[in-house]
Amino acid sequence: MKTHVLTESEKYDAIEKKYRMHKEANGRCKHCGKYNSIYNCDLAHKIPAWQRNIEKYGYDVIYHEENMDITCKGKCNDLSNLNPAAHPIEVALLYDKILRKLGGD
Ligand SMILES: [Zn+2]
Repeated sequence: MKTHVLTESEKYDAIEKKYRMHKEANGRCKHCGKYNSIYNCDLAHKIPAWQRNIEKYGYDVIYHEENMDITCKGKCNDLSNLNPAAHPIEVALLYDKILRKLGGD
């Protein structure tokens, strides 16, 4: 699946978001609770950052904090994955929640 290639400014935004979310999670993995340093954790997407999903849901949704978890690398990162084809209801609810947040509340 083709992954979106981040622009320089999107990369900067993603790094800043990773640091902020890592701090908010106290470095703990969303799934197993293990502490990871900023270098050893992943910022895992729920709805995957595939080009197709960005075109469908929009960059602001795919890269929204609600669509991302701080996780261990590897298996825990995979646990966050919400492929729309396999999880249509969860994805619809998440999409709606993010749209409401982007709408400003
Ligand atoms: Zn973990």
